[in-house]
Amino acid sequence: MSKKLLYNLLAVLVLLSLVLAGCGGGSSAGGDQKLVGISMPTKTSTRWISDGESMVKSFEELGYATDLQFADNDIPNQIAQIENMVTKGADVLVIAAIDGSTLSDVLAKAKEAGVLVIAYDRLISKTENVDYYATFDNFGVGVIQGTQLLNGLGLTPGEAAPAGVGPFNVELFGGSPDDTNAFYFYDGAMSVIQPFIDSGTVVIPSGQMGMDVVGTLRWDGAVAQSRMENLLSANYTDKRVDGVLSPYDGLSRGIIAALRGVGYGTADQPWPVITGQDAEVASVKAMIAGEQTYTVFKDTRELAAQTAKMVDQALKGETVDVNDTKTYDNGVKVVPSYLLTPYSVDVTNYEKLLVDSGYIKAEDLK
Ligand code: BGC
Repeated sequence: MSKKLLYNLLAVLVLLSLVLAGCGGGSSAGGDQKLVGISMPTKTSTRWISDGESMVKSFEELGYATDLQFADNDIPNQIAQIENMVTKGADVLVIAAIDGSTLSDVLAKAKEAGVLVIAYDRLISKTENVDYYATFDNFGVGVIQGTQLLNGLGLTPGEAAPAGVGPFNVELFGGSPDDTNAFYFYDGAMSVIQPFIDSGTVVIPSGQMGMDVVGTLRWDGAVAQSRMENLLSANYTDKRVDGVLSPYDGLSRGIIAALRGVGYGTADQPWPVITGQDAEVASVKAMIAGEQTYTVFKDTRELAAQTAKMVDQALKGETVDVNDTKTYDNGVKVVPSYLLTPYSVDVTNYEKLLVDSGYIKAEDLK
């Protein structure tokens, strides 16, 4: 064989092996590779984008193919995306629901097709067709937020107010009433705040309490802003607001905009204590600027990794790692859950928790 022919033959072999290698990779399922459909609610909040990216990474590391979709906070859209995943032959669905009660029909179809269903971060209710729930300690998130609000006012949960401290004017905001998390957050926060309301140290000048009045549909910051504007003009022309319980950074930014509009954020009228959740870059910046007082960090990388681990265990027929089999009753069954730990963040510890851990890049906060 001539040298030239040998080289040509080798080149063809190399090419062929590259083509063959390409067939098994990528993120579309091939051969025995299982497909995971990942349905996220929206891209309007940066946390869900991080969740999606981390999940693709975690699943691919374990050898799974993924199909990641965001539903633009539109319920029919989310249902159609999930239906499509089932049609495409997904073996697993990981779903952060927009409205946890709307998926019963599509999940019945998924179950018929033998799909493993994981509720991600938000509980899926009114169906038996949800196998596991991976989330954070949601009541614990609320306790952190309530504690933050009290600490910011110089109060300590479970202890009497120091003499001469208060009364403080506070307003309460809740999350979306179609997301069970919103109730856990609110109840957790009220479990520590309520005794101070009962003793008169914390006053709610608007009188608006309870998720039916303080809830914010779809976690919409614009809705929170306009509610805060109304609260301010109806109740605060002759007094200042000292604290606002907000369950999510996107709402906190709306609340801050309303407060700024009536002159808060100056030496004469300093910002009230304002809580939040998710450690979104825009809100960490607001914290550094002294506008928002606190947020709650939930490491979405950890949640993604835990979810991938649970899926892998379930598909391999191994014992699935859960740490809560009592809390999350979805109306039909108690869904076996794994709860991760949330962390309180303020200006004193954000660098350690968020920057040093690589969750947020230092340059993004400039
Ligand atoms: C999540 C929160 C988030 C909120 C709004 C909740 O279900 O647990 O982390 O702030 O949705 O997206």
